[in-house]
Amino acid sequence: MMDQLINYEEVLTKCLSETMPPCQVSCPLQVDTREYVQYISQGNFNASYAKIWEKLPFPGILGRICLHPCETQCRRGAKDEAVALCALKRSSADYTEYQFEKLLPRELPEKKEKIAIVGGGPAGLMAAYDLRLAGYKVVLYEAAEMLGGMLTQAIPPYRLPRDIVIGELNVLHQIGVTILTNSRLGKDFQLSELLGKFSAVLLATGLPGSKKLTIEGDNLIGVLGGLDFLRLALNGEAGIPELIRDRHVVVVGGGNVAVDAARTAIRLKARDVLLVYRRTKAEMRALPSEVNEALEEGVNLKTGLMPRRIIGKKGRVTGIEFVPFKATGEAGMVELLPTDCIISAIGQVAELDFLNEEFAFLAPEGQLEFDSVTCTTKQQGLFLAGDLILGASTVVEAMASGRRAALYIDRYLQGQGLPSTSTLEESSLDESFLNLLNNNISQVEVKPRKVLSNVAPELRINNFTEVNPGYNREDAIEEAGRCLQCECRFCVKECEFLQEICASPLELVRKLAQGEYPPEVPYLCNICELCVKVCPQDLDIGALLLGLRQQMVERGEGPLPGHAFVDRDQDHVNSEAFLLTMSNPERNKVKDGNETYAFFPGCSLSGYSPELTLKAFQHLKNIVSCDGIILHCCGAPNLLIGRRAKFDSMLAGICTQMEKLESTTLVVACPDCYHTIKNHASNIKITTLYHLLAEKDSLRKLSIRNDDRRTFTIHDSCKARWECDLQDAIRKILHHLGHNIVEMPYSREMTRCCGNGGMVPYTDLDFFIRLVERRLADTNNDIVTYCAACRETLSSQGGSAVHILDLIFNQAWGDVLRAEPKTGRERRENQTRLREMLQAVDYK
Ligand SMILES: Cc1cc2nc3c(=O)[nH]c(=O)nc-3n(C[C@H](O)[C@H](O)[C@H](O)COP(=O)(O)OP(=O)(O)OC[C@H]3O[C@@H](n4cnc5c(N)ncnc54)[C@H](O)[C@@H]3O)c2cc1C
Ligand code: SF4
Ligand code: SF4
Ligand code: SF4
Repeated sequence: MMDQLINYEEVLTKCLSETMPPCQVSCPLQVDTREYVQYISQGNFNASYAKIWEKLPFPGILGRICLHPCETQCRRGAKDEAVALCALKRSSADYTEYQFEKLLPRELPEKKEKIAIVGGGPAGLMAAYDLRLAGYKVVLYEAAEMLGGMLTQAIPPYRLPRDIVIGELNVLHQIGVTILTNSRLGKDFQLSELLGKFSAVLLATGLPGSKKLTIEGDNLIGVLGGLDFLRLALNGEAGIPELIRDRHVVVVGGGNVAVDAARTAIRLKARDVLLVYRRTKAEMRALPSEVNEALEEGVNLKTGLMPRRIIGKKGRVTGIEFVPFKATGEAGMVELLPTDCIISAIGQVAELDFLNEEFAFLAPEGQLEFDSVTCTTKQQGLFLAGDLILGASTVVEAMASGRRAALYIDRYLQGQGLPSTSTLEESSLDESFLNLLNNNISQVEVKPRKVLSNVAPELRINNFTEVNPGYNREDAIEEAGRCLQCECRFCVKECEFLQEICASPLELVRKLAQGEYPPEVPYLCNICELCVKVCPQDLDIGALLLGLRQQMVERGEGPLPGHAFVDRDQDHVNSEAFLLTMSNPERNKVKDGNETYAFFPGCSLSGYSPELTLKAFQHLKNIVSCDGIILHCCGAPNLLIGRRAKFDSMLAGICTQMEKLESTTLVVACPDCYHTIKNHASNIKITTLYHLLAEKDSLRKLSIRNDDRRTFTIHDSCKARWECDLQDAIRKILHHLGHNIVEMPYSREMTRCCGNGGMVPYTDLDFFIRLVERRLADTNNDIVTYCAACRETLSSQGGSAVHILDLIFNQAWGDVLRAEPKTGRERRENQTRLREMLQAVDYK
């Protein structure tokens, strides 16, 4: 159950971390290419291969012949050229040292239901794989001698070597699918038998028939269907080579089958091969690269023509007449082409002869009736998938259809309702996400796609060996490096805490809502708001975790034992040992209506240096009309560990003290006090010491002798992230003091927490140290801060850091740079000493 008090819902509805990149949306199997491509870019082909197998089987097959719709949408395409995702998938399979057997689950669940799948092409194979992994007993029936469907029956080995197919399809044996080849539905067994014996039946019989030309002469000897020709030729059927060798061959069509038939005829040593297509070359359904390869191999192409009549002599083909497409075919427009062999590749058809009278209702008009979402039919327990219902599609689409059918078979067998079409949401490209990603595409460097070189045409036409050798390792790594890794997760990339505990804010929130994290997790965030800064949706993970901390305290589950130190410090600053409000005896010089100020150094600066605090106070009195000083803590530590009630009462205490002094404005010296009071006590008018110091007249009064002019890097406190005026004031003061400033990339609004934020050191010391080290690694210069806690934190891990007030008021600031941070005890002693020092001065 979601926790109502914390606003998980906002993150769940607005976070873009799991929004799919364009390549994934356009892949029918929704493969997240980013992950496997990233592994390749790191040279880790094993991890890449394992990643692919998590989502789908057969990377070696798909990596060769997938029509890669993912590439058509690749964002890189808008810059130069799409990433070669398909070829990279193949490289993953080519260069892995893993056997896929090792990547399969050791044990499968065992369910009692048996499922029959008819058709061993991509759709049936995918369904068999998924259903078997889900624990079902699966029997796969295939009419042909071997599995693969079009992969082994029609796609020529020069594009898809048989050993690759056989090797990868072996996975079905490995996971225990029962495979029955040479088993034809309608001949060797009947549909009613299957429906009687199995809990569910899936038909994935594809489109095994070639569409006929249906023109005069289409039954002459020498006229072949494209699919029939390929099936016979690739099976080494006797008579086929003779039919082609030294003949004039005409292939009709513009899709994959046509181009494969033409290239196969070339390899069978046809005298010449003419490919005739009715539309333009650009409109051919076959991949342009396939068409070009065919042309390189010597295939001739004629477009804009459609066949009208086949001419023959003694029952054999001698020629074919064409007319321009869309024309009526009047005399004079006819083009006669002499030929010995015509291969008609104008489409594929289903063979439904297994639907006898008993099942005629499934295809009342000769067309199958089915639900395209659930793959169901009017026959209970009978499902359909693949080209049989999609029409001539692609391997990846057929596999996706098989996966969909498997999903709904599983739901059906688990007694879960099958949704109606309208309830199933198809993923689509999120335009706003795309716009967001495209915002910075101009900064992407142009880098053309790595070229894949094929075997030379004069060599490849002599055999059926693979034309495309794939990328070599180095080229694959380089090509993978072109991927822009399109994703949001900007917050995760910037935040060590998020990287440590989750893949995305969505995962974080889901796990928090389910109570899957240990209690430390909400206390590991620095509450630094860097995530808010980088988030296009303005999501504030820190605020959510702060809410959770408060809730834990209310339930008695927080704060954690380590926060006892915070309690000790807080007890001290809330006692007579620190609390003090003193008015300035010189006050009331000011006329009514003018601003009057109360100095609020906070517990952090007071604990760091009572001397600096006192000097700052004295200086303040010189530059503004100052009512006095309030020694008090802003309450941030209590707020950060989740003690909201205690924090509220401390805040109320500050208001009371201000009222006592009758000041209009509180002057703080610590960014944390500034942030805390500003955000939680809107009734208090507030500014910082640095704003006042940086004013023109005040700057003149900062007559510090400074012989030691240095180059500093400014560490902006994360609590000053949104305070541009404050950041400017600090830079102005440093400039006035004559120091040189080198900015870190993570500064101002993009600043990083020093590590101390959110009370993290009291939750996990090692993690805290890592955070400090990361911040220190951002610069090689001495650091100047304007938060005493940041200065102490950075110096705790060897950083060379100084407080800006040291530079102003401490002539020996050089000694401070490497000084150890104060211990808790020293801090408390300093706070008390400040109180005593103030009381000793005569302005009660
Ligand atoms: C020549 C050619 C080239 C292609 N090139 C590409 C390409 O490069 N890239 C791409 O993505 N797609 C390509 N395709 C398309 C792709 O191969 C198909 O979309 C895909 O194979 C369809 O898968 P399927 O499982 O639905 O059907 P099929 O692959 O056709 O498999 C159906 C299986 O059912 C069996 N079967 C049929 N009837 C029965 C029965 N009565 N009893 C038992 N078994 C039966 C068949 O023998 C066959 O094995 C090509 C197709 C062809 C024909
Ligand atoms: S650049 Fe990479 S992540 Fe982005 S769409 Fe292309 S392949 Fe996908
Ligand atoms: S930045 Fe982070 S929180 Fe914001 S939308 Fe992106 S992934 Fe989600
Ligand atoms: S507030 Fe800071 S530490 Fe916390 S999640 Fe955001 S970026 Fe990370």
